[in-house]
Amino acid sequence: MVKVKSITTDEIALNEALEGAGIRAHETDLAELIVQLGHDRPSHILVPAIHRNRAEIREIFLREMGDVDAGLTDDPAALAEAARLHLRRKFLSAGVAISGANFAVAETGALCVLESEGNGRMCLTLPDTLITVMGIEKVVPAWRDLGVFLQLLPRSSTGERMNPYTSIWTGVTPGDGPQQFHLVLLDNGRTAALADDVGRAALHCIRCSACLNVCPVYERAGGHAYGSVYPGPIGAIISPQLTGIEDNASLPYASSLCGACYEVCPVKIDIPSVLVHLRARHVEAVRAERRRPSMEAVTMAVASWVMASPARYAAAQRVGRAGRVLGRRGRIRALPPPLSRWTESRDAPVPPAQTFREWWRHEHRPRAGGQHRPRQPGAEGQPRRPGSQGQPRPGSQG
Ligand code: SF4
Repeated sequence: MVKVKSITTDEIALNEALEGAGIRAHETDLAELIVQLGHDRPSHILVPAIHRNRAEIREIFLREMGDVDAGLTDDPAALAEAARLHLRRKFLSAGVAISGANFAVAETGALCVLESEGNGRMCLTLPDTLITVMGIEKVVPAWRDLGVFLQLLPRSSTGERMNPYTSIWTGVTPGDGPQQFHLVLLDNGRTAALADDVGRAALHCIRCSACLNVCPVYERAGGHAYGSVYPGPIGAIISPQLTGIEDNASLPYASSLCGACYEVCPVKIDIPSVLVHLRARHVEAVRAERRRPSMEAVTMAVASWVMASPARYAAAQRVGRAGRVLGRRGRIRALPPPLSRWTESRDAPVPPAQTFREWWRHEHRPRAGGQHRPRQPGAEGQPRRPGSQGQPRPGSQG
């Protein structure tokens, strides 16, 4: 079996299910092939093997392909040729192809796949049986709607004005191409997402990946860190809705809410607003299922009570200062439970010897002669202020 454009099938772990039934499904997109042969997971919607360099790809091909030239170099053209020869044999021997679909047109029942290597065209035309697995949100009403998306998708995904290979088919044609065609319309949580007035916006996504490319969190963490089929900002709003918020509960928090994703999204999904909405849903879900308030809720309630009173706040700061005994070189590496959950993954700063308010009182205390004479900030043990000695003010000369 050969496969193309099938991130939707990852949602239902189709490859693993087929493997269990003794059927090997060969990915034919070059990047998907690299991921599959490397026993790896995709890290990007559009370029799933972006985390691999060409030396690693050469090593994977030599180890896994079996039929590859032992003198294979890491020259990109040589690697592409090796993949081409390997895949050509799969295309010519496979009896069944599985594809995803970028769009479907309700007007005629046509399906559409956009790809850039030509592997999709081979998958869609060579095997005798074609099975397309498509999310139900991919249906557009009419051909004129498809025209809009055919312009929008390549421009937002690869920066091209026109997509290299656009395949459109409607059922089967006797004597030409697959003679059997099956369409699987996948819900997998989409109807539930549609029922959410805010979350439903995620269903507009055309998987262009523009939001991944501008996201500072994705840039630093990479796609694997999301641990879901869909990484990046779109993954953070669609995965929790498809699987249920409890299965991907941390994803809506994997964002600084900077809004860069919203700015570039060609279908104007307000991702930050959906993220905030999903955070609220998660908090409500946790609250509803607990009989007792969570540790976080208790901590926040106590913090709110302490911060509501200047006297209580000052007293809490004095108590917190006792934590200085745990510090080494300005950091506390291990706190006692329940605070240990914080220091399991990061250090805590040592509380300062003097709070800002103490420093202020000290600096502005009445002095002999009735004069207020603030001491030089930055003196030993004193907080520094921007613009003070040794700390130039932004934009100052020298
Ligand atoms: S959310 Fe918008 S920018 Fe991100 S992949 Fe979907 S369509 Fe593209």
